[in-house]
This record gives sequence, C-alpha cells and structure tokens, in this order.
Amino acid sequence: MTETTYPDTQLLIDGEWRGGAEGKSIEVVNPATGQKIGQVAHATKVDLDAALEAVDRGFGVWSATSAFERSKIMRKAAELLRERADKIARIMTLEQGKPLPEARMETLAAADVIDWFAEEARRTYGQIIPARAAGVMQMAVKLPVGPVAAFTPWNFPINQVVRKLSGALAAGCSIIVKAPEETPASPAELIRAFVDAGVPNGVVNLVYGVPAEISEYLIPHPVIRKISFTGSTPVGKHLAALAGQHMKLATMELGGHAPAIIFADADVEKAVKTLVGSKFRNAGQVCVSPTRFLVEDRVYSDVVEAFTEAAKAVKVGSGLDEGTQMGPLANDRRIPALESLINDAVEKGAELKTGGRRIGNEGYFFEPTVLADVPLEARIMNEEPFGPVASFRPFSGLEEVIAEANRLPYGLASYAFTGSADTAQQLGLRIQAGMTTINHIGLALPEVPFGGIKDSGHGTEGGSEAIEAYLFTKFITQTAG
Ligand code: NAD
Repeated sequence: MTETTYPDTQLLIDGEWRGGAEGKSIEVVNPATGQKIGQVAHATKVDLDAALEAVDRGFGVWSATSAFERSKIMRKAAELLRERADKIARIMTLEQGKPLPEARMETLAAADVIDWFAEEARRTYGQIIPARAAGVMQMAVKLPVGPVAAFTPWNFPINQVVRKLSGALAAGCSIIVKAPEETPASPAELIRAFVDAGVPNGVVNLVYGVPAEISEYLIPHPVIRKISFTGSTPVGKHLAALAGQHMKLATMELGGHAPAIIFADADVEKAVKTLVGSKFRNAGQVCVSPTRFLVEDRVYSDVVEAFTEAAKAVKVGSGLDEGTQMGPLANDRRIPALESLINDAVEKGAELKTGGRRIGNEGYFFEPTVLADVPLEARIMNEEPFGPVASFRPFSGLEEVIAEANRLPYGLASYAFTGSADTAQQLGLRIQAGMTTINHIGLALPEVPFGGIKDSGHGTEGGSEAIEAYLFTKFITQTAG
C-alpha cells in the first residue's frame, strides 16, 4: 500500500458510514513525513444528536440480545480483525508512525481483547440471596448500565478503543466512540469489523470532531449513562468533574510517571535489555512507559552506560521501513514539549548522555534520549514525559526508593528488577500504583487488571473486573402472585 491508498474516514451513525452533516473535515498527517495523507469527517451538534438517538435505540436492541448471541458476534469481529490485520497495521503506521510490527501486534492484541470480553459476556453472574420468608425469591442480577460515551487518544489508536468497546458490548451496552482525530482510520477499521460481524445498527457509533465540544455535549446528555476516557490527567479531571456533576459513572485511564527500579542484586543485563525495549516502544508515548529510572548506587554507572549504549543503537526511521525499532513522534506538539523538558533538566544539572534533539526536519523524529543524575526538581521528574526519554537517578536502599516511587501524585505502572524475594514482595505491596511488574514486563494482557490509582485515574480496563464497569447490580425480590 502506498500513502495515496490511505483511506479517508467517515462517521458511523446508526449503521451508516457518512460525512458530517455540515460537510466539515479535518486533515490527517503522516508523522513520518509531515505531509497530509487524508481527512476525517467532523461531527457537529446535528451529527451528535443523530448519534445520541441511535445509541439510545441501539441500547434497547442490544440489551435485549442474549449474552450468547452478543458473544458470537463479538468473536466474529475478532476473527475479521485478525484476517485484516496486515492492511489495518499499515493504515495505523501511516497515521500514527509506530513500526509496522508494533501496529500489527496492536491489531492482533485487539482481537484477543475482543475474545476475552466475548467470553466474559457469558459470565455476568448474579446471586440468589436466601430470603427471610418462605416463598420469597431474592435475586441480584447484573444489567447493562446504558449507553456509553468513550473518548480515546492517538497513541494506541485501536487498543484504547477496543477495551472500552468490548467491555461495553459484552455487558449489553451501546456506545458512541469519540476516537482520535489524528489517527482516525485504524480505529474506524476496528469498528468496521464489528459492523461487518453483524452488530445491529445504532449499537456502535463513531464520531470525530473538536474533542472538548463533543465531550461537553455528550457527557451531560441524559441518554448517556457511562463515560470512559483515556488521556492526560488534566483533561481526565475536567471530564470526571463533568461526569460527577451529572451523576454519570466514569472510568478514567490517565497519565503516569512509572518508576523503573533496578537493585544491585538483579540480573542487571536482563533489566537493561528489557527496559530499553519497553522505554522506546511507540517512541515512549505510552501511559505505562517506564520514565523514572531509579538504580541502586553500586550498579548505577554501569546501568546508565549500558542503557545509553543500547539507546544509541535503537534504529529510528519510518515505521514502514524494515528493521525500524522506533518511528517518529505521533504529532509535532511533542517535539517542543520534549525539548523543553530536556533543556529544563540539563539547566538544573542533569547530564545528557545521548539524544535530546529532533532528527532532521522532515517528519517528527526524535532521538532516543538518556538523562543521568536528574534532580528531583527538574520538570521531567514530575511531569509525564510522554516521549523517548529515560531519566536516571541513583538510590541507596529500599525505603529511599519506595519513597521516591510514591512521591508523585501519579500511580499507574511500576517496574522493578531484583534477585531478592523479600524486596520483590515489599515493592509489590508498597508501591502506590495500579500495576507492578517485577523482573519481566507482564502488563496489559486482556485477562489481567489494567488501571491506575491517585491522579492516574480509577477503574480497570482488563481482567475479570473490567466488565463490571458497564454493569449495575439490580435487586429483584418476588413471591407468587
Ligand atoms: P491533550 O491533553 O490535549 O489530549 C489528550 C487526549 O485527550 C487526546 O486524545 C485529546 O483528543 C483528548 N482530549 C483533550 N481534551 C479533551 C476534552 N475536553 N474532551 C475529550 N477529549 C479531550 O494532550 P495531547 O497533546 O493530545 O497529548 C499529550 C498528553 O496527553 C501526554 O503528555 C500524555 O500525558 C497524555 N496522553 C495520555 C494517553 C494515555 O494513554 N493515558 C494517551 C495520549 C495522551
């Protein structure tokens, strides 16, 4: 596929793919070239009203569809996604920049997420509660909460949608997805798989436009009963407040600033190799990316040197080129944002070991960057970097490193490497984060919890609890009439 075959993206409202009612559209740019590659339809109030009407009707239809049937349609969608993975991955790389193998993996992983939720759909068990009187039947049943509005970002164009979409559909909810305008075509292909698999009209709707205008309109709207948002903490707090004001349920998957802790008793070589891969995946634009590298002082210099050498060896290039390990940043905003964080750190005394600059002037490529001895007051030790930058600091004991890990208001992912079972247990229990992965990277599988605490949000988008976000418990008591 060449760039010219990148598809324009339409809205999906009530089973119909169409342009915005006012004919507006937004440009889509390839971050590897900075050139326009297509456009995406832009929804205005008329379209949102149509989507709200459709999602309301869709809820009636889907919530009355048996869990068995819902599960079957979902699994068909997963199958279609697998069949189409090569084509979809190329679309994703063109619009988002990530290397083709990463885009393909994301597409195939989405199929696994759909399968997982399709299975969970059939297990939304309730309870029979023994009654105090003979002849009374007391039941607690799980029912879908109602139409959902989901808002998703550009870093994982498919993955961020699929968890919300699959959870909602498995529970029997209908949904309006506001997918990312910068990477619109690959999430549209995900949604197409559901349409082609036979999801009834109105059950799944897809819109793009001005994010703030859409969220301000959908969240307070009486048809919408549940909000799910993935994105930055400031926007998440704003949307959660709006949801609270209108008594809407909300799941918030927000920013992080993950500590990556390496103890001297760890297999240090393995730790470096594993963390380099994790750090530069998707050019560091990952909410669970390791960002604060905390290394026990005895091995600090060795680890920084080894990590720096490995960072220098990361092959940066177009995501379509064979062998590329890191593509461009997904949008031009990230370049000044990263330069400003790095300059601030250096001004405050950090040592720039490698990287730190944009590469060339075509596309949004950035050097894999390593900073050492970064002072705690540097902005990069406090704000989510969201880019290919690793910031290192030494530590000298368990208590010190746990205090540093827990210093920030964020609490999403955390990483640790140690040879001590005792240290591993302490870290697992005492790091204030939704997820801790020790001596390997084991996050984000469909069957395990995925979510944060503190300013990183609330709710889980994985594991057996995830479907609960789209269900409520209804109590029914009855006796013979
Ligand atoms: P941003 O804060 O402007 O936007 C983040 C996401 O939220 C985007 O998808 C955007 O479309 C959406 N958004 C923004 N305002 C909104 C609103 N009022 N209503 C609904 N959606 C809204 O920042 P950005 O420049 O796009 O991304 C940079 C920052 O966002 C990063 O530093 C990172 O912290 C965060 N981010 C986090 C994730 C994640 O996976 N948690 C993903 C992407 C971006």
